[in-house]
This record gives sequence, C-alpha cells and structure tokens, in this order.
Amino acid sequence: MASPTYRCRGIVLKKTKLGESDLILALLAENGAQVRAVAKGARKPGSFAARLELYSCVDLLIVQGKSLDIIKEVRIVNSNENIRTSLERTTCASVMAELLEKVTHVGLEHDRLFPLSQKAFECLGQCTPDQVIAVMDAHVLKVISLCGFKPTFDSCVLCGLPVLSDEVHNQPFCDLAILDGGVVCSSCVAEVESIHVSRVTLQWCHYLLMSTFEQIADTPIDQAEAFAVARVCQSWILTHIGIKLKALNFLFTTQIF
Ligand SMILES: [Zn+2]
Repeated sequence: MASPTYRCRGIVLKKTKLGESDLILALLAENGAQVRAVAKGARKPGSFAARLELYSCVDLLIVQGKSLDIIKEVRIVNSNENIRTSLERTTCASVMAELLEKVTHVGLEHDRLFPLSQKAFECLGQCTPDQVIAVMDAHVLKVISLCGFKPTFDSCVLCGLPVLSDEVHNQPFCDLAILDGGVVCSSCVAEVESIHVSRVTLQWCHYLLMSTFEQIADTPIDQAEAFAVARVCQSWILTHIGIKLKALNFLFTTQIF
C-alpha cells in the first residue's frame, strides 16, 4: 500500500546535512507547527532542492515516512531572494529563523506565527538596508509575545503607572524588570530585580512591538538604537525561553553593519 501523502505550505528555517547527499529541512508550516522532512539527493547538482532555499516560502508534497517524512515535490510561493543576496539581510533572517526553529514544535499548531513571519520575511527582503535590524527586532518581539512572553514597555508591570510617557520623571533611563515582564516605575523599582535601559531604547521597543511591518519599514531608526533593542531581545529570550540565539551573537560581533 502506498504511504500517505500530505501538502504543506511553509517557510524554510533550517537545512541540516544528512548522509552523502540528503538534507533535513525544518519549516514553519502554515498552521504554525514545525515540519521536518528529508529532501533526498538535495545536495546533488540539478536537484529539485534548488527550490528549497532558506527563508523562501514553498508549497510541498510530502510522503509520510517511518521515521522522517520525505519531500516529493516543491513549488516556490515566494523565493524572498533579496534576503539571500545581501549579507545584512541574511544575518537578520538567520536570527528570525533560529528563533522560530527553537519555539515551534512538530504537531503543535499556532495560528498566528506563520502569517506574522511571512510578512516579516517579505518586509526584510524589501525594506531599505538601514531598516533591516528594526524589522528583525520587531519580528523577534512579536514572536516572543505570541509565545506568551509579551514584554510591557509603556507602563509599570507592578502598579500600572505609565512609565514611558511620564513627563514629570523624564529621566534618560528607565528600569526594566525582565523576569517580571517589563518596565517598573520609580516607586516599585525596589521590589524587583531590574536593569537600567535608555528611555529612547524602550520607546523603540514599544514602537516596534506595537507597529505593523509597513509602518516600521517607513520609520527611520538609528542603527545604535536598533542594536540596543536587539540586546533587550537577547536578554528577554535568555530569561524567558532559556536560549541564547547563536545568530544574534553573530550579529553583535560581525562588522558588516
Ligand atoms: Zn509601579
């Protein structure tokens, strides 16, 4: 009896070598689950797997296997080629893909992760070079929020008092209590463990979390601020999800930006 097949639309997150010529692919499927499947002969010249580029969106026909499922057909939906022809864009995309690969699981559906990520990868390929880190930051902030670790940047997480728009205590720095989920006001700061973060950086964090990718692509951001937001993201992910993204570390140490 022939093995059952299924169709799947997904974004290619990761490729891992398998044996002499095969690849294992990890994809974010349309239902928000992770799909892992083998592309046989993918590393041979002329293989259909040339259509399975990282960060592209593809339609697949997959055969269920005993241990690993096997990709039979590939159709490109959106190649997102602009990402792969730019080192800056590829570096940011690798952060987004690594986070998605870490927070998604086979068989565990999540209805908003795919449309959000599809939009983010498209925007990353099309925005101006100065905006690429901001687009990555926004995607990371939105993904961790969807995963249940949404940061609060505008009001105190303990008492609800507005912090970012506090004109009376308009200090250059605010207190961010990462473990407790966001900023804290000057009255509550003694009750929790917190770090000083520049008010401007937190305003950017809030803006990137709350805005659409179209708005973000059209709002020029200083590179130093985009990096500062990325550092907040790194601390947030480490504290709440328990992972240090390798691609984010690379972004901090590379000289390409
Ligand atoms: Zn407070």
